[in-house]
Amino acid sequence: MDKQRRRELKALGKAEVARQSAAVWAALREANPAQPGDPEWSENYRRGVERERWLRKELPLLAPDTLHKLFVVREAGGAGWVPHIGGYLLCTSCGYATPSALPRRMLYWRACGCGNVRWRMLFWWRRSSVRYPEKLVPVKLTGRG
Ligand SMILES: [Zn+2]
Repeated sequence: MDKQRRRELKALGKAEVARQSAAVWAALREANPAQPGDPEWSENYRRGVERERWLRKELPLLAPDTLHKLFVVREAGGAGWVPHIGGYLLCTSCGYATPSALPRRMLYWRACGCGNVRWRMLFWWRRSSVRYPEKLVPVKLTGRG
């Protein structure tokens, strides 16, 4: 790799980091519009954190209205998605948010609004399916205050 190319890559990397942190900042502002220092701000902050804790614990499938009421949704970026506990995907055809992976459960029978993503677990048997993986976008959910 020559010097020029290396410099270009470095600049691109920096721009990407700046873009990502601007997106994080915007999501945080939207999740908690109160001014820092305002008592309302810490109240909002606490509620936002509680919502994120609930999300991590329950790993719910979220219909669009609930999703946007409780969370600010932003694209996680990066190419493709890797299923992992705590990861969330947005189904772009119905607007549901679904966990990208779930721990084993005795009985779990759910699907997103359009049936693109299906979860099926019954005792030892389990199957999850995604009909159109290209319609899934990895997202980060920030709890609204
Ligand atoms: Zn769907």
